[in-house]
Amino acid sequence: MSKPIQWYPGHMAKAKREVREKLKLIDVVIELVDARIPLSSRNPMIDEIVGDKPRLLLLNKIDMADQTETKRWKKFFEGPGKMALEVDCQSGQGLNKIAPACRELMKEKHDKLKAKGVNPRAIRVLILGIPNVGKSTLINRLAKKNIAVTGDKPGVTKKQQWIKVGDELDLLDTPGILWPKFEDQDVGSRLAATGAIKETLFDFQEVVVFILKYMKDRYPERLKERYKLEEIPDDVIELFDEIGRKRGCLVGGGYIDYDKAAELILRDLRSLKLGGISFETVQDVN
Ligand code: GDP
Repeated sequence: MSKPIQWYPGHMAKAKREVREKLKLIDVVIELVDARIPLSSRNPMIDEIVGDKPRLLLLNKIDMADQTETKRWKKFFEGPGKMALEVDCQSGQGLNKIAPACRELMKEKHDKLKAKGVNPRAIRVLILGIPNVGKSTLINRLAKKNIAVTGDKPGVTKKQQWIKVGDELDLLDTPGILWPKFEDQDVGSRLAATGAIKETLFDFQEVVVFILKYMKDRYPERLKERYKLEEIPDDVIELFDEIGRKRGCLVGGGYIDYDKAAELILRDLRSLKLGGISFETVQDVN
């Protein structure tokens, strides 16, 4: 697991500058978000930073999200010059749609070049996103199949290399990294719930209370089924207690061992024992 990045104003300014520098070389921006929290896993200044470059949004980790919600998010994000795809970078699902989507985004420009008798070069793409959304996993996947590194191009600093992805794409081998919007407490809780921020930076039990509160309202049946509960108590702490008791997370005197119960619930969530869960929905925005 990579070291958690500490974002201070100076680091944010530097990250923004670095991304802007990379964008100069790029035709299409591939923005990665976590399909479970597509808004909370975006950088708050992304539109301003990317400007009017053609953009492909990848809703990643669909294996862990609620499929119905992911489909709604896909529609939500699509618009003129903007496309969205559902992907699982770990298994590779959906990645074969990336090149055709980039081609579609560049179609008008390429048609114009062709009309002038110019053969368009490969489309240059940058992968962009906040930490832990799957940027390295995606780059490794795309690179493995197409290992040819094309080397330096004019205007590129020595360190940056291009990875050839099929005949159509040249991918910058280092992603653009931006910061999330964590000054909002709910955003922070969603980031922690999905593992985008290490739990150790958070109060472990608080994150689990957040998860239970959300699931109690949105996915009560999943809780009932997993923890063999007949009813879901209104009070979230009572629910926490009930799960702890059912699962034998007890310390002396019959008291609940909250650390143990929290760990168990988080493990169930991460290993999909509670099913695919989205912590943000389009309905909440509208
Ligand atoms: P980066 O910080 O954006 O480069 O993120 P990483 O590529 O390091 O991925 C962060 C974590 O998410 C790693 O543990 C990956 O294995 C995991 N991951 C990436 N893509 C997927 C996916 O589609 N599904 C699941 N379940 N995990 C993923």
